Amino acid sequence: MFLVTLICSDEACAEEAEAVVRDLGELERLACACGCTLQALEVDAWVAAAPVARRGALALVAA
Ligand SMILES: [Zn+2]
Repeated sequence: MFLVTLICSDEACAEEAEAVVRDLGELERLACACGCTLQALEVDAWVAAAPVARRGALALVAA
């Protein structure tokens, strides 16, 4: 999953939005409310699952 910051490609609008997508191909389906396409400003990997994985690794070491 990716957390993506988007901006409208129309400079007169320049609306910013955030979206969470499973893969970056989904960005092509997103559009601004004004009808223009959205461009990705910033893409962050979604790391919500990381703490769970780390706990599992520690449990394995302790056993
Ligand atoms: Zn727009």
